[in-house]
Amino acid sequence: MRKPKIVILGAGYGGMITTVRLQKMLSVSEAEITLVNNNSYHYQTTWLHENAAGTLHHDKTRLEIKDVIDSSKVNFVQDTVVEIKSAEKRVILHNGELEYDYLVVGLGFESETFGIKGLKEHAFSIANINGARQIRDHIEYMFSLYPTQKRDELLTVVVGGAGFTGIEFLAELANRVPELVAEYDVPREKVRIICVEAAPTVLPGFDPELVEYAVKFLEKRGVEFRIGTAIKEATEEGIIVAKGEEVEEIKAATVVWAAGVRGNALVEQSGFEAMRGRIKVDEYMRAPGHDDVFIVGDAALIFNPENDRPYPPTAQIAIQEGYTIAQNIAVMVRGKGEMKKFVFDNKGSVCSLGHDDGIGVVMGRKIVGWQAAFMKKVIDNRYLFLLGGPLLVLKKGKLKFF
Ligand code: FAD
Ligand code: NAD
Repeated sequence: MRKPKIVILGAGYGGMITTVRLQKMLSVSEAEITLVNNNSYHYQTTWLHENAAGTLHHDKTRLEIKDVIDSSKVNFVQDTVVEIKSAEKRVILHNGELEYDYLVVGLGFESETFGIKGLKEHAFSIANINGARQIRDHIEYMFSLYPTQKRDELLTVVVGGAGFTGIEFLAELANRVPELVAEYDVPREKVRIICVEAAPTVLPGFDPELVEYAVKFLEKRGVEFRIGTAIKEATEEGIIVAKGEEVEEIKAATVVWAAGVRGNALVEQSGFEAMRGRIKVDEYMRAPGHDDVFIVGDAALIFNPENDRPYPPTAQIAIQEGYTIAQNIAVMVRGKGEMKKFVFDNKGSVCSLGHDDGIGVVMGRKIVGWQAAFMKKVIDNRYLFLLGGPLLVLKKGKLKFF
């Protein structure tokens, strides 16, 4: 009998967890499992801000996919997905194509620029290893030019957006400034880190007491905030911002856009109905009208029944979705058992402020300082444990807690 073909697109949090769960649940005789990813490695997106600031090398953040999956059970294809032809149950890759009986789409997120002029050309974003590496290298290069060129904007970094990504990156960068100043012989007082946030507060929607803690932490380290101020344009010289009617140009050699994400555009381009690249899934995590297509991670849109608003796209929810999808595919492959409805178990969120500080709400309890930093590392290590057991935690985990 022909074995059903399961194809998983994208080796992010959702794709990786779905794959390792399926390889545990199904035997080689039951199904043929293929994982497709554009890189040979999986990376922990949740550490990219550290790579971008240069406080953690990107090799710590990534791991070879072949070192985690069981190659006797999963066929790994390193290639770029170009299109999903759902009517024909085929996936077009840059270098070939694949047929599927069950598809899992986990192609993740990309930066959302909302059509703001110049951002694509003149701003960086923290969306993958390449982007993070470019930011680190660019900042270092700009600092290295300062002693000869003495242009103040070389030492100015603007961060657009004070959501979790913006705040975590600002904290890492602020912590790194003393090292950069010493390395490149630049005067500390000339270094400027400016955060521009359109909403009336930093970390909109988060606990105000914790927000105050984060702002004080960052201001103490020299970060300047422009709150209630929106980035309107990015240029070769810097950015144009507006607060009400007031328009201002900020000259900066480095602009990091951390003001929003959307699902991978490929999802819409393949004809799925989506809102900013995110597909509103059914209760079993399938694309509406496609019983054989499951959506995981940032590509999936799920509404919180308590407030009818979408759950924010996070690694936490992507991991949980991976568990549900693997279970549901196993049920479909075997033709017996009961499919599981996805219910998000929100354990809270922790925002790091460098490696030894942070803020968070976990299980309904507020935490700050070393407790938050400790909790963040526990969360990160737990993920590695789920992915590859204790050996992976020892190899790639954050084991230095303070
Ligand atoms: P992703 O992690 O986005 O991975 C997608 C994968 O698909 C990648 O491997 C990519 O290379 C691959 N891919 C993309 N396009 C193609 C293609 N065309 N062909 C083949 N392969 C492709 N969430 C938390 O819960 N906690 C945190 O602490 C946290 N911190 C974060 C920090 C930062 C700096 C950022 C940016 C995000 C953070 N998030 C955090 C959010 C979290 O990282 C995302 O929600 C999560 O990464 C989404 O996982 P995913 O499985 O959808 O895909
Ligand atoms: P976000 O959408 O959460 O925040 C973007 C911020 O940019 C908002 O505060 C918004 O008001 C602001 N903004 C939008 N347009 C602007 C403009 N023109 N000018 C200035 N500011 C503007 O995006 P994010 O921080 O990248 O987070 C993306 C997702 O990843 C979220 O779901 C988040 O929860 C998750 N994440 C979680 C963690 C964590 O748990 N530690 C860390 C990073 C990201």
